[in-house]
Amino acid sequence: MKTQARVVVIGGGVVGVSVLYHLTKLGWSDAMLVERSELTSGSTWHAAGGFHTLNGDTNMAALQGYTIRLYKELEEITGMSCGLHHVGGITLADNRDRFDMLLAERAKHRYMGLDTQIVGPEEIAKIAPITNTDGILGALYDPLDGHLDPSGTTHAYAKAARMGGATIETHVMVQETNQRADGTWDVVTDKGTIHAEHVVNAGGLWAREVGAMAGVYLPLHPMEHQYIVTDEIADIYERSEEHPHVMDPAGESYLRQEGRGLCIGFYEQPCRPWAVDGTPWSFGHELLPDDFDKIEDSIAFAYQRFPVLETAGVKSVIHGPFTFAPDGNPLVGLVPGLRNYWSACGVMAGFSQGGGVGLMLAQWMVEGECERDVSAMDVARFGDWISPGYTLPKVIENYQKRFSVSYPNEELPAARPNRTTPMYDIFDQMGAVWGAQFGLEVVNYFANDGEDRYETPSFRRSNAFDATAREVKAVREAVGINEIHNFGKYEVTGPNARDWLDRIMAGRVPKPGRLSLTPMLSHKGKLIGDFTISCLSDTHFHLTASYGAQAYHMRWFEQHAQDGVTVRNVSDTLTGFQIAGPNARKVLDAVTRDATDLRFMDVRAMTIGTTPCLVQRVSYTGGLGYEIYCEPVAQRQLWHTLWSSGQDHGMRPFGMRAMMSLRLDKFFGSWLSEFSPDYTPAETGMDRFIAFKKNTDFIGRAAAEAERSNSPERTLVAFEVDAQDADVQGYEPVWVDGEVRGFCTSGGYSHHAGKSIALALIPRDHAQDGTKAKIEILGQMCDATLITTPLYDADGAQMRG
Ligand SMILES: Cc1cc2nc3c(=O)[nH]c(=O)nc-3n(C[C@H](O)[C@H](O)[C@H](O)COP(=O)(O)OP(=O)(O)OC[C@H]3O[C@@H](n4cnc5c(N)ncnc54)[C@H](O)[C@@H]3O)c2cc1C
Repeated sequence: MKTQARVVVIGGGVVGVSVLYHLTKLGWSDAMLVERSELTSGSTWHAAGGFHTLNGDTNMAALQGYTIRLYKELEEITGMSCGLHHVGGITLADNRDRFDMLLAERAKHRYMGLDTQIVGPEEIAKIAPITNTDGILGALYDPLDGHLDPSGTTHAYAKAARMGGATIETHVMVQETNQRADGTWDVVTDKGTIHAEHVVNAGGLWAREVGAMAGVYLPLHPMEHQYIVTDEIADIYERSEEHPHVMDPAGESYLRQEGRGLCIGFYEQPCRPWAVDGTPWSFGHELLPDDFDKIEDSIAFAYQRFPVLETAGVKSVIHGPFTFAPDGNPLVGLVPGLRNYWSACGVMAGFSQGGGVGLMLAQWMVEGECERDVSAMDVARFGDWISPGYTLPKVIENYQKRFSVSYPNEELPAARPNRTTPMYDIFDQMGAVWGAQFGLEVVNYFANDGEDRYETPSFRRSNAFDATAREVKAVREAVGINEIHNFGKYEVTGPNARDWLDRIMAGRVPKPGRLSLTPMLSHKGKLIGDFTISCLSDTHFHLTASYGAQAYHMRWFEQHAQDGVTVRNVSDTLTGFQIAGPNARKVLDAVTRDATDLRFMDVRAMTIGTTPCLVQRVSYTGGLGYEIYCEPVAQRQLWHTLWSSGQDHGMRPFGMRAMMSLRLDKFFGSWLSEFSPDYTPAETGMDRFIAFKKNTDFIGRAAAEAERSNSPERTLVAFEVDAQDADVQGYEPVWVDGEVRGFCTSGGYSHHAGKSIALALIPRDHAQDGTKAKIEILGQMCDATLITTPLYDADGAQMRG
């Protein structure tokens, strides 16, 4: 066995071999995979082998599309068969919400180049004749859906990787992974030690145990899962062509033809986690005992939907475990806090996602970044607050909701409240309707007495509409207050702090007492952050950005660490409030003498009431506003000070729903909607914050300059939409002159203007005021008009005055 390799991939399931193949494809042939048994010895061998593109996250859906198309390539390269059956598949909808979800997915597929179709009951009966269509409104048909041979496919990946120069060692068990001082790794196995620059954990069912060898907790958990293969069914084998897949979310089942019979699997509600205390190393090619009790209700439902099943005999039952992350997406990428240690775990649909996971991870390792935004599967989307106690109930919730409708406004209840601030009980008593962000409770809106303390999940305007309107009105006409606990906050100190910021951030680094807004760019010039920099002194800065991107941003800062600079994540040790609206100054002046001359974009330390605070004059709501930071121990006192002062000025608390409506009035973008690694500064207007004149080779400079001299084709614009009861959420197609020419990044209802607004990326040559377009919302073609004048404070007089 080799004792040296550039990369060691631990685990020979479908994910490990895909990573190995993609590494060789991108030029890292000195890659080695070690597998403790034979290839496929975890979840892979007993998978049902189904694949499909449908995924609520657009980037994940695109990567699933990539995975499916890859199988032909693998067959061609290796001459091996993946056992492909491209039989197509339909996903049924038996109620309005499920149908809305399919309509929204179909709309996205238009510009993604996926050739799906919405079909009605009659067509369903033709496509999938064993389906009882009673009560079915329609379905999404995807010709790409199908299934394959899990073992053949894994071996095809392995052969392609070997052809690219990689080595695969089976019956080699990794026992330890020890990092050397230079950041390289000793991978200790039962057959000797391998010294590697990089380690990839693709340990699947054992990923938790493999992670622990490096001192890492990876938030995933195995769940038991069962599918049944029937005996021969005449209605199936007498057909001239193979029966397509049928996903029936109402019955939480997926079904396809297997030989001359059928195969049906369930995501049952009485589901069971497996190996709660750790996956035994002795587990291998065995199955779990059959358990018909837990799928009894699911089977009864399936008999109604697919009557042929009722008389079919059972040929075999496959009951095995596979892993989930708390939100069901994979855990991929550089593990925060470690050097050269990569995760390729938590892949619950290895045959839909494995190719995309392999490609993205290989691009990240070899080229330094991925070609698209992988936030939805980035291992850094969970922070160091995550624990097994949180992961387990979330994984159970995710399994149970696998086939449920995912609503854009939905807040999932398991493992909550998990993290709260000192304001939790005060806001709760005031009627807060809570959401969660990065494990933290945040107020979405405040319900009045007599109103439900629960927002109805919906694709259309929800019951939060009136409450949001009230809060927006208070901010626009008087003053609103909300917490700034859910901002990502960083303290940057040291003699080289300014130099470091100049290199890391593309924008201007402000003078003491001032703020600046800046994009942070990747080496290829993609947006990887939108930051506010506050300069407290030349050696002391504060940064604010998205709360959910903390682990992602800290990982980047650590990768680009410099002597003489200390970066601390103070997101949860600095909290406070923002007050916004025309009366905000009066509220502040009543409780401090230090704010009267505070100009727009000033930052200053001051005492408010009795609380030492840092106050900056800036607002995301688009008018006069202040952010007031304090320590958590002082937050309640600060609240009482501001709230009592606010009573004379019409103060009202507001939540995230109002905030997201208010920002639309000014067409302000938000992280992962308008600003994400999928986009560049010039596409999104963030280039206006780039300091091209500064004498620093900031990261991404060359790409930003190239973009400046050669404008990108698309640009971010705003539309007023003639919407009915549903607003844009994101990724709806924009039609101009009868063709799909762009897509929405986000949108919503401007309660201030009484208009439905969409932000969208469209070709530059259509980006003129008044351009007429149509935006497809839940299957409706809504008239839209491009607008360039903000709906509030268009000249900035309120904000700056
Ligand atoms: C019943 C069932 C049906 C399924 N049906 C489908 C389906 O239809 N479509 C679909 O896409 N997915 C399906 N899945 C899920 C699919 O099986 C998984 O997504 C996939 O197998 C995950 O692959 P993996 O490579 O991440 O992990 P695994 O297959 O678990 O592979 C991990 C490998 O790592 C090795 N390993 C672990 N620790 C070490 C160590 N210390 N040293 C060396 N080697 C080590 C293990 O031996 C194992 O071979 C199904 C799962 C189940 C249980």
